[in-house]
Amino acid sequence: MLKPMNENYFCKPMTSNTLQKKIFLETYGCQMNEYDSELVRSILKKENFEFVVDELAADIVMLNTCAIREHAHRKVYGRVHSIRHARGQERPVMIGILGCMATNLRQDLLEDRSLKIDFIAGPDSYKRLPQLIQEASCDGQKSYDVTLSEFETYSDVYPSRQEGGVNAWLAVMRGCNNFCTFCVVPYTRGRERSRSPENIVDEVRRLAAEGFKQVTLLGQNVNSYCYDDHDFAYLMDEVSKVENIERIRFSSPHPKDFPDRFLDLMVANPKICKHIHLPLQAGNNRILDMMNRTYTNEDFLNLVDKIRTKIPNVALTTDVIVGFPTETDGEFEDTLEIVTRARFDSAFIFKYSERHGTIASKEYPDDVTEEIKTERIMQLNKIQKEITYQKNLAHVGETQTVLLEPYPEAKNKNLMPGRTDGNILVILPQGPYKGGDMIKVRITAATPHALKGQSV
Ligand code: SAM
Ligand code: SF4
Repeated sequence: MLKPMNENYFCKPMTSNTLQKKIFLETYGCQMNEYDSELVRSILKKENFEFVVDELAADIVMLNTCAIREHAHRKVYGRVHSIRHARGQERPVMIGILGCMATNLRQDLLEDRSLKIDFIAGPDSYKRLPQLIQEASCDGQKSYDVTLSEFETYSDVYPSRQEGGVNAWLAVMRGCNNFCTFCVVPYTRGRERSRSPENIVDEVRRLAAEGFKQVTLLGQNVNSYCYDDHDFAYLMDEVSKVENIERIRFSSPHPKDFPDRFLDLMVANPKICKHIHLPLQAGNNRILDMMNRTYTNEDFLNLVDKIRTKIPNVALTTDVIVGFPTETDGEFEDTLEIVTRARFDSAFIFKYSERHGTIASKEYPDDVTEEIKTERIMQLNKIQKEITYQKNLAHVGETQTVLLEPYPEAKNKNLMPGRTDGNILVILPQGPYKGGDMIKVRITAATPHALKGQSV
């Protein structure tokens, strides 16, 4: 149960009517965090809080944080200082930290006097936000709830999404049971739990009625979705039956959960995009074992072959971590080799970053120097960039179906972005079409980052 850290018996928290209610919410990290921010908006709007786009006009600033890599974590500390600095002494603002950093670093955040955080809510405590804000409204009082739940899926909250969008994120499960040794997710987001297929399909129907054309089903380990006897293939099939939803994507799966049944469904079902994000993490078997990834590099390449045999036009993307503890030059070369052999369409490459509470942080000293990590990331990026460029070039001359995206006002008005089925960005000239339209596009040129095209 919640216990304010500095109980101040003379201060009476403001009531719901007297509380200042303008909120500025900033989101860091993954798509799941974007989705969680939409949940937070929905929960607080019901309590008459108002969301503003001008940080200086806000009474409360909330940062929805990510604890996956050090980069994200440092950014949040810097941000808190800059928010306080921008206000000065005269215009105080309440600051709340939400998300994975909240669970992971609660004690540090509350005890750091220079940060002066007012309230903290972990990923399973967003329904308590109105109360936490109210309790923190007394000077000097702090409130927090970072309890992890075995049941919370927010299936009763309809996220407050931006109007006029084309793609909607939708979390079908939360948490993770895999305990990869480098990863903080099982500690910050708790155990795996899934929403019922009926509840998810209801939300997708509502999205279709609002004009969304694409849904991206999200989970930390999305293809281990399981509700009663229903697996991820069943769920995808049910979602694809919703009229007016043209495309379905999913992120992020684990390579261990790709039954043939699911791949066969991907082939047979035109609404399921032929794109799989398949995180490799490392190409050396000793490192994969230390990471507790439960597959070898041979298993991974066999899976890549199987996927490409069944779905010849599939786009495969990946995540790789360089500089995991004790990784030698030779072992890193195994990663270069597997990446070269797998020929991913694109890759996110990260330097290993020790995360508080993980198995790796307790058992393996972070002994690869920053210099070596930088060298390895540059080497791998160079190889992958060339592969991506070659793969993009191979699309020149093809005709692809492109789902157009809404285009922010400020950008080049003569151009329009869209995505292929394989999720590659395509830029084409403006024409008699708009965000949300699916059009045929002839690919005319390629760069390492995108394709160019003309509507046909
Ligand atoms: N569930 C997915 C899987 O099984 O691979 C990954 C989701 S994870 C939240 C996103 C990516 O962040 C991972 O694939 C990994 O490459 C990267 N990542 C996670 N922990 C990391 C760490 N401690 N250091 C560097 N990168 C990390
Ligand atoms: Fe983290 Fe993904 Fe491993 Fe789960 S499966 S522990 S989210 S890397």
